Amino acid sequence: MEEDLSKMWESFSLSRDEEEEVEVTATEVKGTITRGQSCIVGKLVSDVSDQLVSKETIKSTLLGWWKLSGTLTFKILGENLFLIEFEKARDKDRVLEGRPWVFEGNLFLVEDFDGRTPPSKITFEKAYFWMRMLHLPLACMGREVGLKLGSSVGRVEEIDTDKDGIGWGKYLRVKVLVDLSKPLPRGRKLKFEGEIHWIVFQYERLPKFCFQCGIISHGPEGCMKRSSLQNQGTTVEFEPWMRASSMTRRVERSQVRFTVKHGAGSDNENRRAMEGRHGNGRRHLDPAAGNEESRWTFREN
Ligand SMILES: [Zn+2]
Repeated sequence: MEEDLSKMWESFSLSRDEEEEVEVTATEVKGTITRGQSCIVGKLVSDVSDQLVSKETIKSTLLGWWKLSGTLTFKILGENLFLIEFEKARDKDRVLEGRPWVFEGNLFLVEDFDGRTPPSKITFEKAYFWMRMLHLPLACMGREVGLKLGSSVGRVEEIDTDKDGIGWGKYLRVKVLVDLSKPLPRGRKLKFEGEIHWIVFQYERLPKFCFQCGIISHGPEGCMKRSSLQNQGTTVEFEPWMRASSMTRRVERSQVRFTVKHGAGSDNENRRAMEGRHGNGRRHLDPAAGNEESRWTFREN
């Protein structure tokens, strides 16, 4: 509704006074931008349009999850849309790093403060998920293959491996930015030494999603596939097995995780640089010159 009102002016014939622009300078927004640095915007994604959750309910749940060291202030920006202000910068970083957050089966998306976009126009189309890649040949359970497979889904943020970039275990864990408007990828065909392997994808902390079409958030129009599938008598193709069963994080055992550093915006930045964390120290990984895809070198910070 608020969005409709903001678009209405486009069809109006504006008076001369209304045509006048009121220009805002950087100095005038200094205060809000500064305070904004300790804020995030959160949205509860729910396909049930009348499911409004109160500020108090969300706030008490979030406080339970986040175990913050400082205080938290909540402001309502719209329907299921909140501005969350942290007293401590460290708390904000932890909340952003800890994504995704799921509230009673629904995604609670959090985005860093962006002072330029009106809240009604902030798009929450993508969300970070930890994916588990199952049935990989052992030779493929490493950083480079994780990056390649993960990039076929979306922007890769982290890959869970040891300091040598090896991720042996029951599965390889990769944190990927997933497009919520598309069906969740169930896997990928991997070709290695002439053999094709079907790599199964599972998702940690996966919220409710549609078993008919595999989409997490349909939007107001609802499921486009459900009625046609029912008419054809077709069985569902997306199933609960896509939800990873336990929350055991391998990184807690190895204390090593590689973060993919991104430049401004492009998904292709995936291969540009990687940054690793080991205990308290910080290491940077740079693609070796001439062979960006397959070789990485360590550089102590
Ligand atoms: Zn659906």
